[in-house]
Amino acid sequence: MIPLTLKELAEISNGRIVCADNIDAATLALEQVSIDSRHIDDRCLFIALKGERFDAHDFVSAAVEHGAVALLVEREVSVDCPQVITSDTRLAMGKLAAWVRQQSRAKVVGLTGSSGKTSVKEMTASILSKRGKTLYTAGNLNNDIGVPLTLFRLTREHDYAVIEMGANHPNEIAYTTDIVKPQTALVNNLFAAHLAGFGSPDGVARAKGEIYQGLSEEGTAIVNLDSYSDQWQFEPRQTVWYYSLLPQEKADFYPSNIEVKQLSTNFTLHTPLGCVDIILPLPGIHNIANVLAASALAISVGATLEDIRHGLAETKAVPGRLFPVQLSPNKVVLDDTYNANDGSMIAAINVLANMPGYRVLVAGDMGELGDYAQECHQRVGLAAKKAGLDKVLTVGVLSEAISLSSECGEHFSFKKDLLTQLIPLVQQNEVISILVKGSRSSAMEDVVNALKECF
Ligand code: ATP
Ligand code: MG
Repeated sequence: MIPLTLKELAEISNGRIVCADNIDAATLALEQVSIDSRHIDDRCLFIALKGERFDAHDFVSAAVEHGAVALLVEREVSVDCPQVITSDTRLAMGKLAAWVRQQSRAKVVGLTGSSGKTSVKEMTASILSKRGKTLYTAGNLNNDIGVPLTLFRLTREHDYAVIEMGANHPNEIAYTTDIVKPQTALVNNLFAAHLAGFGSPDGVARAKGEIYQGLSEEGTAIVNLDSYSDQWQFEPRQTVWYYSLLPQEKADFYPSNIEVKQLSTNFTLHTPLGCVDIILPLPGIHNIANVLAASALAISVGATLEDIRHGLAETKAVPGRLFPVQLSPNKVVLDDTYNANDGSMIAAINVLANMPGYRVLVAGDMGELGDYAQECHQRVGLAAKKAGLDKVLTVGVLSEAISLSSECGEHFSFKKDLLTQLIPLVQQNEVISILVKGSRSSAMEDVVNALKECF
């Protein structure tokens, strides 16, 4: 982290310092932050957060035992450690992260969207790492806690930062954008994700668009023409770059010469800097869209076409996102169990459609869809039918609608029953490709793990 003193922390968090007389708050340096009392690094500040089911004020003694040099708390705690008392530690954590970001000279890009945020983040980081030291969101730490934790890892050496921002209710992106202050911002796409929290598809567009509203007057907005909302507005001095999978006049970034292979994709990328041939070691047209977004983000902060070509060639599939698991040379599972909404489910079905042999979709329920649940599951089933899949096996409750509308489906209430159908299919078919996918709450990795154990 970019270090600060206890005194600066008190100013940033509007807090009150409580410490022994022999401690000088103006020189006590803080170089790391932790919210987990079990993981305390050198010169570490421990922030005591409060959640619905926990209160980290109960763990301040443990944090001090593990070496915390200061505490950020909401009430004075009786431990022998300097503390700053503030009214809300979560908000103070955000303010501290915003301060760290302001101290950094890194060029910061921020991205949100319904699907593919982590994928685009990894691609953008891979490209920018060709140019300089790049910080990027670890895993999926993309919420009001994860974004500050990411920014705390910024050092003065970083040239770039790529920050993923997620949301399941309004104002969340506005909050994190205000902390990140990205100079370039992207909404990757809009799908029916977290509709229960956003109310409607328009609500999703509005909430994701908060990232554009938080853009500085001279910032760059990267806009997906294929997932566009006319609710979004931009300032005259902002640069707006559009991209599309289709070569339309308005698109600054688009692909041509697309060659979709089973687990990779080749195409020519068109950008305002010119064209470059891309070999992408990831399957699916949706990943071309992700490349358009990542290239636009990277070029906006100085990347070249060569950085893009080399950076993308090194991109790897992220576990749980269409991650190929080979059961035997001709039997592959696409492990896409990390999460699902209707858009990502249909994108994955289109990848499966292009795979060899007998093609099976194994789908669990997609959660958080509120009133749109039935419609979204049906849409996925129709996509499976249109793609000509050989078999659809579903498990759970809502996913029965996928089975029914696919017209080649069978529904189960329990995974163990589904496996009694799936395992013989793997045994009987010489060549088989299986896509396994569902919402996080469906834990469809159970099916992948069972297959790995069997074969
Ligand atoms: P989360 O909201 O959970 O953080 P995310 O937006 O970071 O998700 P990824 O983790 O990159 O998204 O991918 C999640 C799922 O969406 C995967 O199944 C992936 O294959 C699929 N996906 C990735 N990019 C796209 C895209 N552009 N369009 C549709 N689906 C996509
Ligand atoms: Mg993510």
